[in-house]
Amino acid sequence: MFALKLDEIPEQGLDLQWKEEKASLLGYVKDLSRIDFDFETPLQAEVKIQKAGQSVVITGKVEVTLRFQCVRCLKEFSYPLATTFELTLHPLKEAPSEEETEVGSEEMESSFFEGGEIHLSEIVCEQIFLEIPYQPVCQEGCKGLCPKCGKDLNLSSCGCGKEELGSVFSALKKLKLD
Ligand SMILES: [Zn+2]
Ligand SMILES: [Zn+2]
Repeated sequence: MFALKLDEIPEQGLDLQWKEEKASLLGYVKDLSRIDFDFETPLQAEVKIQKAGQSVVITGKVEVTLRFQCVRCLKEFSYPLATTFELTLHPLKEAPSEEETEVGSEEMESSFFEGGEIHLSEIVCEQIFLEIPYQPVCQEGCKGLCPKCGKDLNLSSCGCGKEELGSVFSALKKLKLD
């Protein structure tokens, strides 16, 4: 876990680059058990931290490759993810002054920090989790598995679909005859 004390940030700001290993990343995903995924690479973080009065502005970039299971064909696939963010952190229990609120708080996301400590690991992990697809698919046009015979329809088609179609047509024919 990578945390930074407020007084460790110099007036001119701080540029940081670090790696977040899989073991520590896994500590952050306990609450995300609804999504089935794994980390294929460590997370790479690059951030710029600047004080703005009592608040802290963090801009940065995070990159990681995740591994998902396709919700349609159940195949595992790599999912490279990269995102940039801009976040303003206000000290908890101290409402931001009017002046600070005006400084772009509309276009920037804001959050809080407690005890004069910025939990950078947590912040960058959250940025990744915001980008995780709710229903990951291996490719946009993934055909999935046949619900009848379980065949991967991306590799080859099976006869089941045709049968289904056939029965619909015969049902229609019957309707017309009636
Ligand atoms: Zn798929
Ligand atoms: Zn089939």
